[in-house]
Amino acid sequence: MAYSSRRVPNALTWLFLAALGAEAATRLWLAARQIRHVSAHRDSVPASFADSIPLAAHQKAADYTAAKTRLGMIDVLVGAAVLLVFTLGGLIQWLSDAWSAVFATGSIAHGTALLLSIVFVQALIGLPLAAYRTFGIEARFGFNRMTLRLFIADLVKHAVVGLVLGVPLLLAVLWLMGKMGTYWWFYVWLVWIAYSGALMMIYPALILPLFNRFTPITDGELAARVARLLERCGFKSSGLYLMDGSKRSSHGNAFFTGFGAAKRIVLFDTLVSRLQPPEVEAVLAHELGHYRLHHIAKAMALSAAVSFAVLWVLGQLIGHSWFYEGLGVRTATDAAALALFLMVLPEFLFFVQPLLSRYSRKREYEADAYAKSHASAAELERALVKLYQDNAATLTPDPLHSAFYDSHPPAAMRIARLEAK
Ligand SMILES: [Zn+2]
Repeated sequence: MAYSSRRVPNALTWLFLAALGAEAATRLWLAARQIRHVSAHRDSVPASFADSIPLAAHQKAADYTAAKTRLGMIDVLVGAAVLLVFTLGGLIQWLSDAWSAVFATGSIAHGTALLLSIVFVQALIGLPLAAYRTFGIEARFGFNRMTLRLFIADLVKHAVVGLVLGVPLLLAVLWLMGKMGTYWWFYVWLVWIAYSGALMMIYPALILPLFNRFTPITDGELAARVARLLERCGFKSSGLYLMDGSKRSSHGNAFFTGFGAAKRIVLFDTLVSRLQPPEVEAVLAHELGHYRLHHIAKAMALSAAVSFAVLWVLGQLIGHSWFYEGLGVRTATDAAALALFLMVLPEFLFFVQPLLSRYSRKREYEADAYAKSHASAAELERALVKLYQDNAATLTPDPLHSAFYDSHPPAAMRIARLEAK
């Protein structure tokens, strides 16, 4: 072919570049605001925390936040560069050509090899930043408990689990794309829903134990308090477990896993060692609130609706050569379409982030209100202050940065609501 009917770059190229530029510029601007705001408030603890949080802890939180945000800025720049190299830079095309020497272009084997090699290259590029996050920043602020050996062991385990769980899904998706005609995207959606449901069921019993040890908590004040709380809230669970989170980090947490009557409550050992039993009870009441108010079910329904819409859009794009050419790919295969779409889509959805964050903050207030009516608001408040201090979470975030990204309301606002009648 001497002449191509369509020129590269096309309109999609410019649209993509505009979206990528707008996203990166907004992220960097918000990060700069956050660093400025936190640093400006570094030298005085906000009045409502003046007698619960010492100045030194407040300053540590400011420095920790600034360090993490700075790393985030590097992440934005690296991410944008990597995305450009993969797409317009021709790396996806190059990998596709390279695999064409081994497998028939467009076959399931070719597609699987292409997608796995893309994931591998991305993981490799992300590794230095992940290592710096753990052994640089987390270690500098005294949070890291991870040895290099554990870091590498985790990496290998994650890769194996990812391959075992991911490759069958990939094969199923590529097969459906090749065989199901125009409505392939609908079949892929069905498979995706079934797959994520199955994953949620096997996760607590099969995946989590690969990374942590779980010990049942059966007696003592904590177990008795939790049992009474569950009864008050009409909640059935298959047990309360202590997780050895301290082998990786000193950050504390609590969560629920599993479905129906197989739900387990998991407390990090780091949380239990820092909080008094009534405080743990209040934190759990908040988590129970998320369940009782159907936040989990709503989030799952939302994600099912979003994946339906997203797959439909890909279904419309996949047959057009401008979609591939505009993003730097000449060989139009199903796998290339998947890769391009999944990489480029986040740029176009970035400005939905504030809406999602706002939705999530609303849910947090609701869970706090639930905790207030089923446990003690004063204990939850004490627990939150300890957690903010222990995690060096800033009490003075930039309001715009917080509105854009934060899934949880700022500390002062949460506590004001807990104290309100
Ligand atoms: Zn919550």
